Amino acid sequence: MKESRINKERLFQEFITLAEIDSPSLKERELADYLKNRLQDLGFTVEEDDTAAKISGSAGNLLARLPGAEGLSPLFFACHMDTVTPGEGVEVLFEDGVFRSKGNTVLGGDDKAGIASLLEVLEMLREHEQPHCPLEILLTVGEEHGLLGSKNFDIDKLTSKMGYVLDSTGTPGTIITAAPAQNVLYVTVRGKAAHAGFEPERGVNAIKIASDAISRLRLGRIDEETTSNIGIIEGGKATNIVPDAVFIQGETRSLDRGKLDALTEEIIGEFERVKEIPGASSNIRVDFEYPEYRLDPEQEVVRFASEAIKRTGLEARLEISGGGSDANILNAAGLAVANLAVGMQNAHTTDEFLESQHLIHMVQILWEMIQLSVTGK
Ligand SMILES: [Zn+2]
Repeated sequence: MKESRINKERLFQEFITLAEIDSPSLKERELADYLKNRLQDLGFTVEEDDTAAKISGSAGNLLARLPGAEGLSPLFFACHMDTVTPGEGVEVLFEDGVFRSKGNTVLGGDDKAGIASLLEVLEMLREHEQPHCPLEILLTVGEEHGLLGSKNFDIDKLTSKMGYVLDSTGTPGTIITAAPAQNVLYVTVRGKAAHAGFEPERGVNAIKIASDAISRLRLGRIDEETTSNIGIIEGGKATNIVPDAVFIQGETRSLDRGKLDALTEEIIGEFERVKEIPGASSNIRVDFEYPEYRLDPEQEVVRFASEAIKRTGLEARLEISGGGSDANILNAAGLAVANLAVGMQNAHTTDEFLESQHLIHMVQILWEMIQLSVTGK
């Protein structure tokens, strides 16, 4: 496709508009309303599900449908509407072809880069009266809060069996063919409080006990498909009090469910051992956050995207991600879903930026996918 077909000004302005609409997790109302109108104007029927009430959010997931040419298999694209903090009051600076925030918030290219490119492709489809397959657009809420939106979405509402989540860091052309499962661990280590100066021997120091346990853990990269982390530790009240409690949160991830379970058990075991110390106790809760997914490079969902990417002149790269996305949930429900990189960089930081050229590349890729859905492979 000629790049000139893309209305760059419209695309860039759309991205800025989206980024500047506040949509922190569970407060996606304003953006959901904007996107409902936008998609309806593009000819879609849009329905919002009842997820808002289930997750105490302000908006539900949006599912938008556009009928296509007869006999063609439907295709879906999914993005999430929410952003991480600090994400309120975003002001976009657009200089030298790069979008950034003013430095006090994230940019929100995660995942508004995906949404902006989708909207531009839909504008182009309408402008050029281009034939296309039936399209479904899923816009989720609460993705950054443990994939809450997709977890609560009734996947039977999708008629497509194959689709793409547009929500990975990296250069457009990158196809995420595998992503790990994740457990989150919540641990409380308890000891006994005492005055640290008068009678420390009456206390049981929960910080010392928890630290010893943590020092025995294997953390970081365990192997090429397995990681673990302790990310939060809180405890203690004052320097003159022997601390009686420490709260710890950590996680394990692996592409291999057996390894995930074994590593999680190993960590639980270390915190269980705490109970051997007189006066100490521990309590451990494990939440299974999401399952892994792994696509075969020969699977249609991968080959289809690779072919579309090649037709844009970009290089198709298959990569394994260390992070979860809505693709994990949708794959687990039996759909064939790959996550595509949309160009966001330094996501989840106030240094986040997005090159405008990457937005253009995303539009080209999506355009070629829709063309391929008509002409076949
Ligand atoms: Zn994201």
